[in-house]
Amino acid sequence: LPLTSDSNQHTLDLDRAHVFHSWSAQGSLKPLVIAGGLGTRVWDFEGTEYLDFSSQLVNVNIGHQHPAVIAAIKEQADLLTTIAPSTANLTRGEAAKRITDRAPDGFNKVFFTNGGADANENAIRMARLHTGRDKVLSTYRSYHGNTGAAIVATGDWRRMPNEYARGHVHFFGPYLYRSEFWATTPEQETERALHHLERVIQGEGAATIAAIMLETVPGTAGILVPPPGYLAGVRALCDRYGIVLILDEVMAGFGRTGRWFAFDGYDVVPDLITFAKGVNSGYVPAGGVVISDPIAADFDETVFPGGLTYSGHPLAMASIIGALDAMAGEGIVDNAARVGREAIGPGLANLADKHDVIGEVRGEGVFWAMELVADRATREPLPAATMGQIKAALVGRGLLPFVQDNRIHVVPPCTVTDDEVAEALAAYDAVFTTVQGGHA
Ligand code: PLP
Repeated sequence: LPLTSDSNQHTLDLDRAHVFHSWSAQGSLKPLVIAGGLGTRVWDFEGTEYLDFSSQLVNVNIGHQHPAVIAAIKEQADLLTTIAPSTANLTRGEAAKRITDRAPDGFNKVFFTNGGADANENAIRMARLHTGRDKVLSTYRSYHGNTGAAIVATGDWRRMPNEYARGHVHFFGPYLYRSEFWATTPEQETERALHHLERVIQGEGAATIAAIMLETVPGTAGILVPPPGYLAGVRALCDRYGIVLILDEVMAGFGRTGRWFAFDGYDVVPDLITFAKGVNSGYVPAGGVVISDPIAADFDETVFPGGLTYSGHPLAMASIIGALDAMAGEGIVDNAARVGREAIGPGLANLADKHDVIGEVRGEGVFWAMELVADRATREPLPAATMGQIKAALVGRGLLPFVQDNRIHVVPPCTVTDDEVAEALAAYDAVFTTVQGGHA
């Protein structure tokens, strides 16, 4: 493989000639060249290093090139690289057990997929078959993946060019900083968001609704930590109306919040859990659905009408075992919780004290957002052009940021150290110092 001796320019030339990129107009793209990585750092062919405070697409929870995950993949590659999903495979069973062991009681089965979108796709299918109902309710501020039902369950703009799937209804979830409900306290936000959801359920007709699908903590939409009581309230509505609750833990799960599952921090247990990203930090594509016993039992005698050639692919399964064992053995999830509490949280609060451009910081673990505003009083979002300048300035300082709309998401690997957090905070600080009156 031509992996190390190449130049940035040749890599970029090949990319621009032949690679078609996600979610982009192709014409003016100039992607960053990355040649290698280790831990929280990545670098190009010319030795320029970046501190990765994006975890790429918020998925590299264990950091880049963790040796235990690589060793597990290599060991499996030597043993058996691929085998049909219809076979019983030891690595697959061990991976599934490690996941169900971390799920609440009453979750004993895992259906493996290639990623998060098809996990949600299959969870929706299970909910429809379980209830005999059709509609799926999800929030406008959400992203659930880029396949048939998952992209239409998505609330953000990416749904609109793709609305071919049927039966999707959207509602507003809680977001106190930009409340849709004129709320000024978390309690009001919870109460009114739940009232709104119940009215949507009634308006749509409860008997037509198969599932409510929610990101436990909406990620791409802004790391919208749910206010106290909201998720428990949604659970109660699902129980009252016979609706399946699907919690999408694709981004929030497996360490990101400082817990194995984000919902472990809330008073809620779903019926179906979807996961991907952090389960193996994307070293090999993988995702899946953790299925509660009553829904799994539906398919004891009845055929489950779904499958994938690579469901439970041995290399993916080995990477899950490697990643989860290393995360447990090295206290990586606890590290995410501690760093969030002791370094990122206080550090971002200090930045907010210093820079008027920060309207709000929120988050937990290694899952934080800074909401950047042109005016603190009106909360007017910083314009896209300024966000672009801020992003370029951060990259110029050797920091890979995660920039979404008017926000910077502070989402390093769960392995991040206090020193790396200090380095990132210094870069944000320096760049915010140059932002005056909405301009960088
Ligand atoms: N669900 C959530 C919450 C996500 O953040 C994502 C990806 O960003 C997905 C689903 C889709 O996952 P994938 O891109 O692996 O299909």
